[in-house]
Amino acid sequence: MTATGKPVSASLLQWYDTHARSLPWRAAWGEAAPDPYRVWLSEVMLQQTTVAAVKPYFAKFTDRWPTVADLAAAPEEEVMAAWAGLGYYSRARNLVKAAKAVAEMGDFPDTEAGLRALPGVGDYTAAAVAAIAFGQRAVVVDANVERVVARLFRIEEPLPAARKAIRARMDEITPDTRAGDFAQAMMDLGSGLCTVRSPKCLLCPLADMCDARTADPERLPVKPAKKAKPVRQGQAYWIERNGAVWLIRRPGTGMLGGMRSLPDDEWSAQEDGSAKPPIMGDWKLLGRVRHVFTHAVLELDVMALDSQQQPVEDGQWWPLDTLEEAGLPTLFTKAARLALSC
Ligand code: SF4
Repeated sequence: MTATGKPVSASLLQWYDTHARSLPWRAAWGEAAPDPYRVWLSEVMLQQTTVAAVKPYFAKFTDRWPTVADLAAAPEEEVMAAWAGLGYYSRARNLVKAAKAVAEMGDFPDTEAGLRALPGVGDYTAAAVAAIAFGQRAVVVDANVERVVARLFRIEEPLPAARKAIRARMDEITPDTRAGDFAQAMMDLGSGLCTVRSPKCLLCPLADMCDARTADPERLPVKPAKKAKPVRQGQAYWIERNGAVWLIRRPGTGMLGGMRSLPDDEWSAQEDGSAKPPIMGDWKLLGRVRHVFTHAVLELDVMALDSQQQPVEDGQWWPLDTLEEAGLPTLFTKAARLALSC
């Protein structure tokens, strides 16, 4: 049998009704559709991030800001600090902007087009929220869905060119009703059975419709050759005095914009190889941390100031015993751990 719309959606929804993952942002089978705020928040957090990493952040955010109006009223620096460690910080800045826009409108828009107009909401998130929270028929394609569809229809064309065909096939098999459940069922299938390595085809509800099942499905979707990421160098400064460390607030735009951090040499601005000279003083190299961003690898030397010189940048002394609460992004958490271990 080949995969056509009706058998795929019927078989998959039947499987989903007994195998759906229980996730804090989902409604259980038979319950009313979930709160759009929770769906939107979870979808923004899940971009490029695993379910396991998102769960504690989702709990923290919904506990602290139970409604979109609460989030809209929160100071941006508090939201940024609460987001620290989740990465891709532009998401947090857009989260605050979108929450304010929704609070002004009075509620979330219930169409894909309306949702897409919100800051930080792209095609995928708009489709997911429209389908899951508002029951609209929308074509939802994330990385899990991409993998399942490429295998189901044995799409041999490499990514990213294959995305057009994958989307068209997903459109073909998306049902008119329960499109949100269908999208979540595809995600669950991709995450639990149709996995990147060793897909569990014997347990798959779509096995007898899958074109790739007997044709080495693991190789699909075909990935483009990976380009090596450029490696950039930088320095961060550990200035410690009387049980406290000097922290700054980064400018609102650019890498890690708006986040609290150690002072540094603005490695994020040195595309041309130039670097800001270090703060004057006698420096000692404590060690190097490495951090992988989407487009580059950063090797950051952590330097400690020996003298009692006053830091020149605006900032604040932050007590070392509450450093975990400073909301440092992962890169600077690594640098702080290195400094504290020396
Ligand atoms: S049969 Fe195997 S390859 Fe095909 S969709 Fe199911 S798990 Fe994926």
